[in-house]
Amino acid sequence: MHIVPNNEKLFKYGMTESSLYDICKSSTESNIHLFWKCSNEQPFWCEITKIFNERLNISDEIALTYQTFSFSNVDTNIK
Ligand SMILES: [Zn+2]
Repeated sequence: MHIVPNNEKLFKYGMTESSLYDICKSSTESNIHLFWKCSNEQPFWCEITKIFNERLNISDEIALTYQTFSFSNVDTNIK
């Protein structure tokens, strides 16, 4: 819904000096990088996936995707 004031948007409107993600400083702080693609976030999602699969106790493992948790159809190949 584009309500998160990430650095990508703040930089676009001249409200911050850089569009880079403050934590890793390796990529633009877009929502997809902030919540999914950043290597700092992947351990969190791996742990959530592990908990889901353990708690649901179903035969097929669930693979979380950005589209699943964000309820969007955003192309995850974009930065
Ligand atoms: Zn990052």
